[in-house]
Amino acid sequence: MVNLKPRQRLEPWNDPQKSPYIQIENVSKVYDDGYIAVDDISLSIYEGEFFSLLGPSGCGKTTLLRMLAGFEAPTQGKILLEGEDLTITPPHKRPVNMMFQSYALFPHMSVEQNIMFGLKQDKLDKAERLKRINEVLEIVKLTAYRKRKPHQLSGGQQQRVALARNLAKKPKIILLDEPLGALDKKLREQTQFELVNIQEELNMTFIMVTHDQQEAMTMSTRIAVMSQGRMMQLSTPTALYEYPKSRYVADFIGDINIFEGYITEKGCDYTLVEDRDDKCYSANRSVEAAAGENVWLAVRPEKINISKTPPKDELKSQNHLYGEVWDIAYLGNLSIYYVMLENGEKVTVTRTNRLRDEEKEITWEDKVHLTWKAHASIILLN
Ligand code: ATP
Repeated sequence: MVNLKPRQRLEPWNDPQKSPYIQIENVSKVYDDGYIAVDDISLSIYEGEFFSLLGPSGCGKTTLLRMLAGFEAPTQGKILLEGEDLTITPPHKRPVNMMFQSYALFPHMSVEQNIMFGLKQDKLDKAERLKRINEVLEIVKLTAYRKRKPHQLSGGQQQRVALARNLAKKPKIILLDEPLGALDKKLREQTQFELVNIQEELNMTFIMVTHDQQEAMTMSTRIAVMSQGRMMQLSTPTALYEYPKSRYVADFIGDINIFEGYITEKGCDYTLVEDRDDKCYSANRSVEAAAGENVWLAVRPEKINISKTPPKDELKSQNHLYGEVWDIAYLGNLSIYYVMLENGEKVTVTRTNRLRDEEKEITWEDKVHLTWKAHASIILLN
């Protein structure tokens, strides 16, 4: 087991002294049948990042990863590593290794033979091969398992053998295609931390493809959210959650309530929005849209306060809705309240269960007041 250490704060993208390690410049991939799998993507990745490509099935994330590995050629655009054009470099000449979801371990070979196999292809002498095997087995904490075959290992241990095989080749970049997809939920969560710890300890650059937003949020320095071949937003996990730039990203990352309306008033540090039922909402920041324009006001369920008593003061900075509880989901650590407004719209509110019997306070069919502060409102323009 890897000792867990506090995560380091790493923000090279905000450091003007740092140059990007990998640059993807206007890359597109059109398959032979005319299908556009990747559509004009440009992004930069910095050395030592744990970078994730996140999106639903078919959004083009694996195609982009395969272009980084060299298994697919871009139809258009360039891929640079430390400023050098890699676009036509064959896979085996790139300082990049790809770890597949299936792990692709040889079943008839032991752990060390599996790791050795990749090193033989690199024509390293025996002493160097053994040295590297010992090193990587130590890193993934599998030294005691070196003689075992894959079927004698747990899913998590197999995953670590696959990682060790990649690490032994000492690539500059490791590409991971859904690396934890085969593990059950508990093991997955534990392995997420182990993988990040190894990546940080070795200061390597990891690029991961996943459709699991929670996994991407837990592990990544930054995340590129993709949809239909396009990049929708590239941000840190916190910024994606707190400041999504579109309804697509807001909805894809976590749960959110979205109200459609138009801007009635705006200033340098506030925006007021009204919906079709004349309900008013406020946000404490300005937006790049004019009064009268259609927008969406969004608020995360945990930012909403739910109460049977009306708010004491109706401040302009306070958003206030009134409705009836039509369903409650009790999840142990928190409860989710589904509240029906008078216009039939449903609002989701989550509340941490701090007291043993707290969920009894508000129950089905209770009339409730929902309030949230203007700073919790997000205004989306598309
Ligand atoms: P998943 O999570 O399901 O693996 P993904 O986001 O990784 O999805 P890709 O594998 O990159 O998606 O595929 C993107 C799109 O390109 C899909 O619609 C897929 O059907 C299509 N595609 C992939 N390979 C080819 C191919 N060789 N020829 C034509 N279309 C392809």
